[in-house]
Amino acid sequence: MDIQNTIQDLRDELNQHNHNYYVLDTPTISDFEFDQKLKQLQELENQHPEFYDDNSPTQRVGGTITKNFNTVVHDYRMYSLENSYSKEDLIDWENRIQKVLGNVSLQYTCELKYDGASISITYENGKLNRAVTRGDGFQGDDVTNNIKTIKSIPLKLKGKYPERFDIRGEIILPFEGFEKMNQELIEIGETPYSNPRNTASGSLKLQDSSEVAKRPLECLLYFIVGNNLTIESQYEGLETARNWGFKVPKEAKLANNLQEVFDYINYWDTHRHHLPYETDGVVIKVNDFHQQDELGYTAKSPRWAMAYKFKAEQVSTVLNSISYQVGRTGSITPVANLQPVQLAGTIVKRASLHNADQIEKLDIRIGDTVFVEKGGEIIPKIIGVDLTKRPTNSERTIYITHCPECNSELIRTEGEANHYCQNFYGCPPQIIGRIQHYISRKAMDIEGLGGETVALLFNNGLVNDYADLYELTVEQILPLERMAQKSAENLVNGVHKSKEIPFERVLYAIGIRYVGETVAKKLAKHYKSIIALQKAPLMDLILVDEIGEKIAQSVIEFFENQENVKIIERLKQFGVQLELVEKFNPNATEKLAGKTFVVSGVFEKFSRDDLKKAIEDNGGKVGSSISAKTDFVIAGDNMGPAKLEKANQLKIAIISENDFLEMITN
Ligand code: AMP
Ligand code: ZN
Repeated sequence: MDIQNTIQDLRDELNQHNHNYYVLDTPTISDFEFDQKLKQLQELENQHPEFYDDNSPTQRVGGTITKNFNTVVHDYRMYSLENSYSKEDLIDWENRIQKVLGNVSLQYTCELKYDGASISITYENGKLNRAVTRGDGFQGDDVTNNIKTIKSIPLKLKGKYPERFDIRGEIILPFEGFEKMNQELIEIGETPYSNPRNTASGSLKLQDSSEVAKRPLECLLYFIVGNNLTIESQYEGLETARNWGFKVPKEAKLANNLQEVFDYINYWDTHRHHLPYETDGVVIKVNDFHQQDELGYTAKSPRWAMAYKFKAEQVSTVLNSISYQVGRTGSITPVANLQPVQLAGTIVKRASLHNADQIEKLDIRIGDTVFVEKGGEIIPKIIGVDLTKRPTNSERTIYITHCPECNSELIRTEGEANHYCQNFYGCPPQIIGRIQHYISRKAMDIEGLGGETVALLFNNGLVNDYADLYELTVEQILPLERMAQKSAENLVNGVHKSKEIPFERVLYAIGIRYVGETVAKKLAKHYKSIIALQKAPLMDLILVDEIGEKIAQSVIEFFENQENVKIIERLKQFGVQLELVEKFNPNATEKLAGKTFVVSGVFEKFSRDDLKKAIEDNGGKVGSSISAKTDFVIAGDNMGPAKLEKANQLKIAIISENDFLEMITN
């Protein structure tokens, strides 16, 4: 078979697997097999740049940087929806419709109102052409590169489709993915995102599309617009979109009269809390497109559609007590312990109080009857106090001044919302939290050791820091609760094996504040050893790609602390990887030292990754975008016109891959 066909088959197959996984939720191959095939395709595409396709599944990983999003005028205006809040509102609406259409019978499509950011995607000849945010409804921002990384959005359609059309939908972030993103932020001591909607909508405007690719975004579709469409109704439109390969929630339903619409609303008012994503209402649309046309639009919204907004569910209950949790970084979080109460389908016993300011602002007191609401967050929050029910003897809440765990004085620095316990080495939750972070999956991934066992080891005086793990013996562990010979051996072996974990992950594991996985990789690559990192002055750290002052300062502080230095010294003695082990490379030179290259387009002799590697192997630096600091742009086929212009403007040398080859061979 010829290469072009092989490539095409692989693309089709991978598209289908993406569809199975992200749209149908029924994968038919393992992640591993998928990755293998994707790799195979990537290699073939690298070898055969002549078959490059903007919409290949390999393009999903992103990597383009958009500094300014272009403004694009929508082919069809994106309207708002009129809101209703009661059944009476809907009856009035139907009466208005009947006045225009005469007393015809009406069918309605009922859909959930997904809470995210709206998007309009244009397809041409079955291929994703561009994606534009709603903006002001007339024009929005071109966010195509970012949208392409969302795997449930087809890059290529199935079946028969019109030559050109727009499809509209909502970009959302399901709860599970949102929680995971927040967990990762909390782990590195960053502030978590406040809710899925804002996070989804912020994601559309990220400059680096590979960052968007990492976010578990989804797109739920609900409307097709275009000329010469053969679709007759909204409901048919949904089914059609589904057949083309889009994710269209199955919850949509056809209602034959208003009563059935009410039933739909009543059902979803409670059941929506079991959906994996946030909804804030129902959208009701006159089903028949001819009737829609007759009804037309007001200045802002279609007359044929109506949003029904759910009331955010709220209950009142008594605040029994406030407890204060201490995190791994020492940050204090106040938590409300409530009289258990039913809310949005679950029993709520605790609610977040955020920080001291929040408590003070709402004047929340123990014994108060408080209003609790469940919004986009999993943990409900207290939104106010029922002052009429305040006990006469109630007292103003005084925020704690000392750590509930170690009793040392809390500090709150200027500009920070949270109080911190500074007793880094004597505060149990901080000590345990740091060791738990050290052993976690993305860090040292120690087999046979879990978070609870860490607490057990600490409470029995066996570990006080992560270096202590390497001195544990089977005899010491055996007497602990629920420890059998086998599990004790596994634990010791697991710890031993972690000595093979590469430096960049060790750097993440040691828990320097603000140094997450990506930053750890950057630092490891730049400094190559912990000694070099330790010696780096602030100014030097800031100069590293993507390392800002906050991170740099945090690194400095970490190594200023002699306790840390001692622990690191011990890790070194135990044989933990504290420098980058570089594979021996006979081709390495320093020919390109001090030169920065930007790679753009596709190449014949190199894949982009190989080209970047060749630059680095020869001592050069790879830049992500063209700037005054760039020395050379290596241009391949399909180099973007904007890049070309920028390079010319800045008078930067543009060279071919052959020129480059000559540079490194001569
Ligand atoms: P609003 O922003 O309150 O004017 O509501 C209009 C927005 O609701 C639209 O721009 C869409 O982004 C969003 N929306 C969510 N789900 C749907 C749906 N099923 N049908 C139409 N619009 C929807
Ligand atoms: Zn403490």
